Amino acid sequence: MHPTSPYTRLAPLAWLMVLCCSWLQAATIDASVNLGQIELGDQVRYLEDPGGTLTYDDIRHRQDWIRNDRSTFSQGYSTSAWWLSLELQNPQPQTSWLLEFAYPVLDHLQVYVRYEDGRLQEFILGDKLPFWSRPIQHHNFLVPLTLDTGTKAQVYIRVESTSSLMVPIILWDENNFHTLQVGPTIMHGIYYGGLLIIALYNLLIYFVLGERAYLYYVSYIVSLALFVAGLQGWSFMFLWPNATQWNDQSILVFLASCILFAVLFTRRFLATDKPFQPWANGFFFGFTLLCCGAIVASFFTTYTHVISILVPVALVACVMGLIVGIVAWFEKRPSAPYYTLAWAALFAGGIVIVLSKSNVIPSNLFTEYALLIGSLLEALLLSFALAERINKERSLRIEAQSLALQTQRQANEALEQRVAERTVELEQANQKLKTLSDTDQLTGLKNRRYLNQYLEDEFARCIRYQHSIAILMIDIDHFKSVNDNYGHLAGDQCLKVVAEQIQASNRAPTDLAARYGGEEFCFVLPETDSEGATVVAQRVLQQIENTVIPLESGNLRVTCSVGLYAGIPNSPKDVNLFVNRADAALYQSKQNGRNCLTSFSEAGSD
Ligand code: GH3
Ligand code: MG
Ligand code: MG
Repeated sequence: MHPTSPYTRLAPLAWLMVLCCSWLQAATIDASVNLGQIELGDQVRYLEDPGGTLTYDDIRHRQDWIRNDRSTFSQGYSTSAWWLSLELQNPQPQTSWLLEFAYPVLDHLQVYVRYEDGRLQEFILGDKLPFWSRPIQHHNFLVPLTLDTGTKAQVYIRVESTSSLMVPIILWDENNFHTLQVGPTIMHGIYYGGLLIIALYNLLIYFVLGERAYLYYVSYIVSLALFVAGLQGWSFMFLWPNATQWNDQSILVFLASCILFAVLFTRRFLATDKPFQPWANGFFFGFTLLCCGAIVASFFTTYTHVISILVPVALVACVMGLIVGIVAWFEKRPSAPYYTLAWAALFAGGIVIVLSKSNVIPSNLFTEYALLIGSLLEALLLSFALAERINKERSLRIEAQSLALQTQRQANEALEQRVAERTVELEQANQKLKTLSDTDQLTGLKNRRYLNQYLEDEFARCIRYQHSIAILMIDIDHFKSVNDNYGHLAGDQCLKVVAEQIQASNRAPTDLAARYGGEEFCFVLPETDSEGATVVAQRVLQQIENTVIPLESGNLRVTCSVGLYAGIPNSPKDVNLFVNRADAALYQSKQNGRNCLTSFSEAGSD
């Protein structure tokens, strides 16, 4: 004997199984044990009233009652009214009893109690009446009986319902009833409390992350809780005690939305970059459509029609949920193992209930609440899977960030390297340009531009250290006639050879020989006095005089005239003075017959 009535404690799947499988109802009831309650299903006799027209007076003398040999009177979905008859005899000392009808969604329930002394009590119950009209305010239907010790009473029950017609009847010793209700009430509190916390937690996460999977999951949990609460009579008791029409409809709406959101959640939760296979997509789409259709239909058609579609839909959806989970596991979709385990927990609960109801395993508190535990475990596991997803996404984000950072760093390094290469190339190009702009193309000597800069620098140095600096101006003699006699190209060739000879005479790295213009060259000798410069000038004259210039039309020899000026400069402006004096000395050399050296002092003295 269980301390609780069996069917009201079940979670939805068991309800569905109870609604569908009549063999479940053959659970053993040991009526001889009395722990405060007795299940009376197998002591009931019944009559069918297809037209629903029979009255109490019509049936009380009928003799054609049929004995119900099952533990619970059940007729599935039936449009008939049904009469049940039950004889009670009280051998116990206590006199106050409660008769419980532990299926709170029955539409119409009338109870007639006829005592031995002729008294007749009549109770009108059913969820088509407001909750407050019940003789005892309880989520199941309760009728009080006062049966003296040793007396008998005849109970007649008329029941009619659009819901499945199931009438679990339990007789309670009123003294023990409230004590025995504490355990189940706490279990229900834990169940609904657990679901509420899970729903709130995931709702907050949805608000933070905005990920729709969490919203579907919260909707699924809320629908599940409201569906179970509807079947167990809790929502009629606490949420809408006057909404008799809605109370029936709510069961349809919340069962349909429960399946709908489970399907939407499954699709969203298991979705990855990998597309679902066509059969899974068909399942998601078909069941979404079916559930939406059922919700709409619940407003227009009867409870019986909609529930007879929704129950098989729910059972198939449960099985498909598990199959989709297993396939997703094989496809290595993220979090699929948690999802599959969660559904398996729900199924395990259902299987335990089925096994205990069919007496394969012994019944106890655990088996009685197995499905409740299973669905709570399912909710917890899915919640855990959703939390794990946050973690996974965070590590993915961190990975992506570090990858982006690394890519950026590599790009920066590549850019820096490219910039460095370009800088070197630019420097080389600049160097080349500078060299080009400093060099005279024909002779390869430094040009006039470079010479000017060089003179400026060297004069500054010689002024600072008070060193002497010497300038030689060198001009080829009768060069015009070379051009005239041998051609301009030969003149160029001549210029090149002379420049080579002047360059060859340059022995000190600090000295500079440059082309001054035309066939005139300038030799600058820093830290050199007049005597030193005279040696160099003589060497230049000698070298050129001795050089044979090979031309196409034969060999040629040329001579040069040189003007020299040396001294310690006092101001940067002395550059012009020095150059002019050397030039004046050169002019003097020309006057003196060419191929000779004149220094300015000599020129001055001349
Ligand atoms: P002098 O002995 O008095 O110096 O007589 P010169 O003929 O050398 O002097 P002049 O200044 O009369 O002539 C210089 C000639 O040099 C005139 C010009 O055509 C020629 N010349 C100047 N630059 C170049 C050049 O780059 N290539 C060639 N082939 N001839 C040049
Ligand atoms: Mg000349
Ligand atoms: Mg000249």
